[in-house]
Amino acid sequence: MNNKINFNKDNYVEFNDFNDVMIQAFGIGCSLCYEPQISFVLKDHPKPIGSLIKEQGKNLTDSEVEKLVEKPIQEWQKFEDINFDNQEPTFLCDECWNQMIW
Ligand SMILES: [Zn+2]
Repeated sequence: MNNKINFNKDNYVEFNDFNDVMIQAFGIGCSLCYEPQISFVLKDHPKPIGSLIKEQGKNLTDSEVEKLVEKPIQEWQKFEDINFDNQEPTFLCDECWNQMIW
């Protein structure tokens, strides 16, 4: 992905996932350097999964969480696949962001 990256900073928004659930539980990271730190995400992304869980406003059992996140995980996977094909990084850490906007 390093050779030809399509990057337009206007296409990015700040990434806010409650408790960094996606990083902690799903092991996602920066699309360029794979660091488990994400500051920006490509626009029109699915709702971050930690925020989705928090929105339920109650403690969920493991199986409830599993059910709740099943579809969003697929949506995120699809989102990442499309971006990968377009050679657009889905997630960017601070460091890569700073390098890209230079
Ligand atoms: Zn990075």
